[in-house]
Amino acid sequence: MALTKDGIVDALRRVNDPELHRDIVSLGAVRQASICDGHAMVRLSVSTRDPAARERMKRDAETAIRAAAIAAGERLKQVDIDFADAAAGRPPAPDGGAPAKPRQPGGALPGVRHIIAVGAGKGGVGKSTIALNLAVALSRAGHAVGLLDGDIYGPSVPTLLGLDQFEQQVVGNMLQPFYVHGVKAVTIGKLIDPDKPLIWRGPMAHGAFSQLVNQTQWGELDYLIIDLPPGTGDVPLTMAQLLSLTGAVIVCTPQKVAQDDAVRAAKMFQQLGIAVLGVVENMSYFVGDDGKEYDLFGRGGAEQMAQRLGVPYLGGVPISMALRRNSDEGDPSANFSAEAGNARLKAALEEVARQVGAQAALASTRAGIPAGGARPELTIS
Ligand code: ADP
Repeated sequence: MALTKDGIVDALRRVNDPELHRDIVSLGAVRQASICDGHAMVRLSVSTRDPAARERMKRDAETAIRAAAIAAGERLKQVDIDFADAAAGRPPAPDGGAPAKPRQPGGALPGVRHIIAVGAGKGGVGKSTIALNLAVALSRAGHAVGLLDGDIYGPSVPTLLGLDQFEQQVVGNMLQPFYVHGVKAVTIGKLIDPDKPLIWRGPMAHGAFSQLVNQTQWGELDYLIIDLPPGTGDVPLTMAQLLSLTGAVIVCTPQKVAQDDAVRAAKMFQQLGIAVLGVVENMSYFVGDDGKEYDLFGRGGAEQMAQRLGVPYLGGVPISMALRRNSDEGDPSANFSAEAGNARLKAALEEVARQVGAQAALASTRAGIPAGGARPELTIS
C-alpha cells in the first residue's frame, strides 16, 4: 500500500493554522499536493505572514506526511512544502507600503487580502471602539492591518487613536495613512474642520467614502477594517458598489432594542450580497472589583439574536472603565496590557479578533477565494 495524494491531504487535516485554530485542509490552504517516486510536494496558501507561524505549519505538515508514509509502508526520499504567495515569510509592510495601483471598480483593493466592515444598527453601542480594538488585536497577532473610518457623519477614530497632534500627510494625490498602535488608519476627521457639523447629501457621502478608499496608499494589508456609520444609509451602499468584501461584523449590546436594529443591519448586508461574519456583543457584562461578572444589560441577548439569524457569535466584550478611559485617551494598546485587572478585557478582545480571523478565512473559502486572495487551484496529481 503506497502513500497517495489523497493520503497526503488526509494527513494534512491534522495540521492546524496556529492563528486560525483550524486545520489547513478545511481552511482551503492546501493548493497543491502530489507524490511521485518517493518525493512528496505540497503547496500551501495561508493568511499569516508571521514567519514563525509559517515555519511551524511547514514542520507540522512534514511530520504528518512522514507519519502517513510510515503507516502506508512507503519510503519517502524527500518532502517539499512551500507557500504559494510571493509574500512568504515577509513581515508586514512598513508605513507607506507599496505604491498604489489602479483599482477595478467593485473589486478587491490591490494588496489587501480581507476587507471587513464593522456595522451596527444604531449609534452608541461601541461599534467604533470594537472596530478599532479588532484592528489593534489583529495587528498584535502579527497581521498587517488598516482601519478606514467610514463613519463620515461622526468620525471618532481621531480621538480613539489619539491623532490630535498629527497632521495628515498627502503625497501626490494619495493620503498617507497614520501609522499608530500597529495600524494604518485614515479618517475624514483629519480632513475637515472638527467643529463643523458633517452634513453630507447622498452623492457627497458617496464621494467622501470613495476618496478615502481609493486615494489612500494602503500598501499591503492582511485586513482592512472599515468602521461604518450606524444604521442603513448611503455609505454601506457605496461600499458594496466599490469593494468586494470578505464580510461584515455586527456590533450590538445585549438589550432587545439594540438587537432589533442589529437585525435590520444584518438584513441590509445580506441584501447587498455581503456575508455576515458574525455578531459581537459589546457591554456584555461588567467585571467588579471583587472579580465577579455582573450581568447589567441581559448578557447573551446578542448570542441569541445571532442564532436566530443563523450567523456566528463572535464573543462578548465587557463594559469596562479601563476601555472607556483608554478610548478617551486615544491609547487602545493599553487595552492589551498584561496588568492585573486587565486580563478579562484583553482576553475578550483577543478572542473576538481570533473569531473574526477564522470566520474571514472560512468566508473566503466558501466564496472560492483562499486566504491568499487568488482563486483556488487544487491540482492534486
Ligand atoms: P458607536 O461607534 O457605536 O457610536 P463608540 O465606539 O464611539 O460607539 O462608543 C461610544 C462610547 O462608549 C465611547 O465613549 C466608548 O469609549 C464607550 N464604550 C464603548 N464600548 C465600551 C465598553 N465595552 N466599555 C466601556 N466603554 C465603552
